[in-house]
Amino acid sequence: MLGELARQGWQVVAAPEAASLLLVNTCAFIAPAAQEAVDTILELARHKARAPGTRLVVAGCLPQRYGAELPELLPEVDLFVGVNDFPHLARLLEAQPTGRLHVSAPRFDYAAPQPRLPAAPPHLAYLKIAEGCSHGCTFCTIPRIRGPYRSRPLATLLAEAEALAASGVRELILVAQDTTAYGREWGFRPGLPELLTELARLPGLAWIRLLYGHPSRVTRRLMEVMAAHPQICPYFDLPIQHAHDAVLRRMGRRYTNAALRRLFADLRAALPQAALRTTVMVGFPGETEEEFAALLDLAAEVRFLHLGVFVYEPEEGTAAPRLGPPVPRRTARARARRLKALQSRIVKEELSRLVGTVQEVLVEGVSEESEYLLSGRLSLQAPEIDGRVLITAGQGRPGTLQRVRLTRVVAPDLLGEIVD
Ligand code: SF4
Repeated sequence: MLGELARQGWQVVAAPEAASLLLVNTCAFIAPAAQEAVDTILELARHKARAPGTRLVVAGCLPQRYGAELPELLPEVDLFVGVNDFPHLARLLEAQPTGRLHVSAPRFDYAAPQPRLPAAPPHLAYLKIAEGCSHGCTFCTIPRIRGPYRSRPLATLLAEAEALAASGVRELILVAQDTTAYGREWGFRPGLPELLTELARLPGLAWIRLLYGHPSRVTRRLMEVMAAHPQICPYFDLPIQHAHDAVLRRMGRRYTNAALRRLFADLRAALPQAALRTTVMVGFPGETEEEFAALLDLAAEVRFLHLGVFVYEPEEGTAAPRLGPPVPRRTARARARRLKALQSRIVKEELSRLVGTVQEVLVEGVSEESEYLLSGRLSLQAPEIDGRVLITAGQGRPGTLQRVRLTRVVAPDLLGEIVD
């Protein structure tokens, strides 16, 4: 969206006071995200009221999910555009559009290379390899909001990645609702391993990272390709959601506890140094103490380096609330606390094993805490969601890889010193 607007002559400014257009790109797959979007819209509406002539536009999942309800609820907003409609945004801003709501069915295929205006630091870029989702998990609104799974063509992705690498991007992060499903809907059997192999050939990219895989779609070939290419971060982000067969069935996840145990054992054998990340949900309708215990057991056995715990939220339009009696909030929150306590012990122990070793760290810049510390990441740490390495000695420019001796754990972060 930013790339398209920049192509049409729009510029990003640093503060709302300097803007003639206030654009809020929204997330709305769970109620708290929608609430956060509405809070931001109302805050920007106050800026708009102080600056006549400024326009306020809301894009993305909020209009896509709530559509027709919004113009009346948010009269301050000039234009609502859905997840498909951003390519027309510049045109809508120039013309006098009929009506304030522009939401079409989620079918946009991103087939052509998209113009980009980086919103991340210059050394980092996200590459969307597919849009939508066809899994239909019973708790999830995303397939309804973003439509069925559509992979972007291989040539398009390579062209976009090549341009990003040429512009100085060192770390390319592949995203989709399920990256491991890449190419399946058009019968492209080589799929994600082929895409990764091609991306690894591009000059300039130091790290290629994969987020959001599906545990049922990790193949032996994917493990082999990841093990064979040092640029591909040894990092598996596989949201399992739960570990008890009955809960997994109610969630519509289509794998079992035994399959998960086999998968993680295979991953450890293929890439012993890999970081395993997952997210899980506690308090799903009907979740019993015994079912929750299966999740605790799996977390203790697999020892994920990164584990996100969410408390189940019933979402309008999903089947999950009908699939079991609600778990009291207090119980669900207590389960989340027990899991987090276990995980915090595991993380400290796992990170401690790295102390004393020398690792490559991608320097990101001066840390937020102190101008005397640099902040960077290991290939085992994804930006924003995992910990960091705080560098207490030595110099390195943002975007460079440095050899760092790790000296201490301050979980989830590590401390270290540049060695040469
Ligand atoms: S795979 Fe992820 S995005 Fe797709 S339906 Fe399931 S939870 Fe939602």
